[in-house]
Parts: sequence; structure tokens; C-alpha cells
Amino acid sequence: MWRRRPGFRAAAPGSALKESALNTEATLKAEATLKAEATLKAGDLAERVQSGDARALARVISMIENGEPRSRSVIKELAPLASGARVIGLTGSPGAGKSTVTSALVTAFRARGERAAVLAVDPTSPFSGGALLGDRVRMQEHATDPGVFIRSMGSRGQLGGLAAATPQAVRALDAAGFGVILVETVGVGQAEVDIASAADTTAVLVAPGMGDSIQAAKAGVLEVADVLVVNKADRPETQRTVRDLRQMTAMSASPWKAPVVTTIAVSGEGIDELMRQLDRHWAWLADSGERERRRLERARDEVTAMAFGVLRERLAVPDELAARVASGQLGPHEAADELLGDL
Ligand code: GDP
Repeated sequence: MWRRRPGFRAAAPGSALKESALNTEATLKAEATLKAEATLKAGDLAERVQSGDARALARVISMIENGEPRSRSVIKELAPLASGARVIGLTGSPGAGKSTVTSALVTAFRARGERAAVLAVDPTSPFSGGALLGDRVRMQEHATDPGVFIRSMGSRGQLGGLAAATPQAVRALDAAGFGVILVETVGVGQAEVDIASAADTTAVLVAPGMGDSIQAAKAGVLEVADVLVVNKADRPETQRTVRDLRQMTAMSASPWKAPVVTTIAVSGEGIDELMRQLDRHWAWLADSGERERRRLERARDEVTAMAFGVLRERLAVPDELAARVASGQLGPHEAADELLGDL
């Protein structure tokens, strides 16, 4: 099915037949473009990304997502073009309202004239998202705005997994001139915490009621939260949840005390205050030197994830070696030494 994407013009309204003919034509055109892009040199592709070509950008993120070898040279070209976009991570359990809040934040950043990108990362899904995200109703209002780029990314193919792929995609978005990049992660596990906390500012969303905040606390999400958001504040138990979260975070030893903000994302209530808190944290990051420290840490984690990915590939245990360990012929330590000796 044809879906609108940023940079693509929507089909003119008309009969179903006419629309489907238009769609077919548009799809063919898009496919032809993709084919042409497949043969583009890394430098050309990077240049097109920098010039704001949404299709080239989508292509590069697909390359990263699929772990295509060519992404390596494209990323190398893009790296010096990135100029330090502001990265905001949003995480929380499914249904807490992440995509609704994200969409409202995009609207708020656009109102300030800033270009904003959304990268929705789903560690539990092997599926590529580009198209899937098009279905997300909350994001539809931004679909035709060239100042907004929305994309999702699943966990397939990449060397080093999403922990390595996410910063690469962020780099591509940064090079494409998006000053604000919202990285939304689905779920509340360790993988999500790792991805979300690679941002400059991490916002953790919970819905009212204790279930969500306890789950978040268990998953270690509260520790990485720079801003806590109780969304669906139109629901009962909001104030209790706010109180509980304040109690949980009061023990934090960090010099930054995570504020608790309440929002009703569907109506936009509280989004101004959320923006204020995000800005306050952004300013604090700069003043405290924490921004640089986090960026260094992010680069370190990215390299580690990438190196582990390479190692995992190189260290595939040959059947013969596994068989010797299984039969007791060789101890596991000796087998590991033998394997590492081959490096
Ligand atoms: P996500 O899974 O965390 O991305 O959550 P969504 O943004 O998709 O929201 C899940 C559902 O909650 C949707 O039906 C939203 O319309 C709804 N929702 C989001 N924010 C609010 C809110 O502030 N109040 C209420 N009552 N519903 C909300």
C-alpha cells in the first residue's frame, strides 16, 4: 500500500481508480529512485542527505538498519557533517502515550521554527519501521511537513545491534540538519534504557497508577530519567503517581533532580511545561559540562557496541571446537584461549 512520507506529495483526491493509478505511478517512481540511489556513491549519498533530501536520508537509515556494508562508508562521510543536534530520548511502557507526547513535542519545536526528527526504536521488533510508522495516527499530522522527518527502526541485521545502530541513525539525522532528534523507544527493558539514555536528555513516561512506575523502577529507568512525565493526567491516581515518583527520585544522588511533569498529551495540556523542563535540562547540561561528558560517553558506548558486534562475528565457535568441549576433550577455558588465539 502506498503511504505518504515526508518529501512525497500526497495523491490528489479522486476516484479510487484514479487514486490507485496515481499511487502505482508514484510507487514506480519511488522504486526507480531507490534503484538509482543504490548505485550512488557514498559521498553523493551523504551530500544529498546534507542537502535535506528526505529520500536519501530514508535510504541511509535503511542501510544502517539492515547492516548493509555500504553504510560504513556513508556514515564516515556523514560524521563530519553532523553538528551536534539536541537528542531527546523518550521511553515508557507501551500505551503510556509516547507517540502522542512525541508528536506534541514535534509541534512545539516546529512552532519555534526548529526542524525535528523522530526515530522510533523498537528493540523487540525485527521489522523495519519506515512504513509501519506511517500508520501511527498521532504522527500523521506531521507527514507532509518537510521540517519533520519520522522514521522507525527495528532490530534486524545491524552489527552491534540497536545500541550501535541508533547513534548512527542519529548522526545521519543530524547531518541532514535536524536540530532536534526525538528518539522514542518502545518498552521498558534494559535495551530500551540503554538506547534512551544515549540521548542528551532522557524523558521517562508513565501512566497514572502504580503498575507503570514500579515497572519503570524495576527496569532501572527511573535512574536514567532526566525528566519524568506522568501522561494521561486526566486519569484518576495522577497525583498519587506524581507523589510516588517524587519519593522514588528524591533518593537520587545526582546533582540534577528529575522534575515530574504531568501532561494530557491528547489535548496538549502540560506540553508547555514539559518543553520548559526539557529546556531547563538542556541548559543545565551545558552549564555543568555534563553535555560534553554525555557525548563522550555516548561515543564510547557506540564504539563498544560496534566492537562487540565485530567480535561476536569473528568469534563464532566452530563446530569442531564446540564438539571437543561438549565431549569433555577440552576445557572451556582452553577452548576460549584457542578461539581468541585465532583473532
Ligand atoms: P505509546 O504506545 O506509548 O506510544 O502510546 P500512544 O501515544 O500510542 O497512546 C496510547 C493511547 O493512549 C492512544 O489511544 C492515545 O490516544 C491515548 N492517550 C495518549 N495520551 C493520552 C492522554 O493524555 N490522556 C488520555 N486519556 N489518553 C491518552
